[in-house]
Amino acid sequence: MMKVEFYKHNIGKEEINRVNEVLKTIFLTTGKVVEEFEDEFSKYLGCKYTIGVTSCTAALHLGLLAYDIGPGDEVITTPMSFVATSNSILHAGAKPVFVDVEPDTGNIDVNLIESAITKKTKAIMPVHLYGQMCDMKKMRKLANKYDLRIIEDCAHCIEAGREGVRPAQLSDVACFSFYATKSLNCGEGGAISTNDCKIVDKLKSLRLHGMDKGAENRYTSKKYHHWDLDILGWKYNLDNIKAALLVSQIGKLDNYWHCRQEIYNIYKNGLKDLKQVKLPRIIGKSALHLFTIWVDPSKRDDILHTLQRKGIGVAVNYRAIHSLKFYKKEYGFKSNNFPNAQLIGGSTISLPLYPKLTNKEIKYVIEILHKVLK
Ligand SMILES: *Cc1c(COP(=O)(O)O)cnc(C)c1O
Repeated sequence: MMKVEFYKHNIGKEEINRVNEVLKTIFLTTGKVVEEFEDEFSKYLGCKYTIGVTSCTAALHLGLLAYDIGPGDEVITTPMSFVATSNSILHAGAKPVFVDVEPDTGNIDVNLIESAITKKTKAIMPVHLYGQMCDMKKMRKLANKYDLRIIEDCAHCIEAGREGVRPAQLSDVACFSFYATKSLNCGEGGAISTNDCKIVDKLKSLRLHGMDKGAENRYTSKKYHHWDLDILGWKYNLDNIKAALLVSQIGKLDNYWHCRQEIYNIYKNGLKDLKQVKLPRIIGKSALHLFTIWVDPSKRDDILHTLQRKGIGVAVNYRAIHSLKFYKKEYGFKSNNFPNAQLIGGSTISLPLYPKLTNKEIKYVIEILHKVLK
């Protein structure tokens, strides 16, 4: 039997050498390498600023705090995401308001957002599910009409574009994850990218307790300057070691994306005769972070377990957030509140999709799926 891992990272010699260089210096925490990463990542996205943090969850949380969103405020978001999305709204003390998703993409249905807006609504937090961008032009128009912020969850979506719009371009802040299985990864890490110069200093302060000077700043100036605390912040600063891993991967992002596109096309072709398999719709250029199939919900778990038994790494991205125990218990959601998200959550299976996947492995996954779904 073959073993096909769900994910393999791309950390190689170059990345390891960069980390070694950092380890030979005295400065391991937030410093020059973080700044280098921030500049390079901004350049890649075509935006003005990036602030490195410890996770996308932290980035989303700080994005809300930067705009003073908290208790008494509502944030509109999608139930078809990882819990980090709506949890970050709770971390800020605000209330997540779910809006159902489009049945063909799994992304928040922008046409349903307006009816969920109240006097308390302060922001929209969309997720570009699997790497497919939401309709950001329509969302920005709506946000402008009601004076709302857009805090983009771009955990799946670095390389994408739709109608000329890329991540971080029409939102107020865009939040990225460099968690172990993401396209750009350092084990655990994240970033906030923005074009809003007014919040950059605040975000830098918020990621380090609210201090007005970072360690590098305090250490490298010849004369000691006292730091002060302006606001209450968090401990979310990215360090030089992680930044070294990240900075050496940025130049390879497009190459990796092309590899995933090839694999995507082989899968798509190989599965096209299987009527029981539905693929999410792609509009524009998807970041192709996940290859997810939608199957009959009454058979999903059986298929999932059979794939696993055959040595294939699989994942479920995701069961709808509103149907999870905590959200049901605390907020009284019922499974049928958001039927499209509920259906997708019951149908979804993610298959291996990463540059190191071999043709033999892809063929094997397709072959097993044909056998299972016969
Ligand atoms: C991975 C992920 C997150 C959380 O990222 P962390 O860096 O682990 O905090 C948030 N949203 C989505 C959609 C994700 O896939």
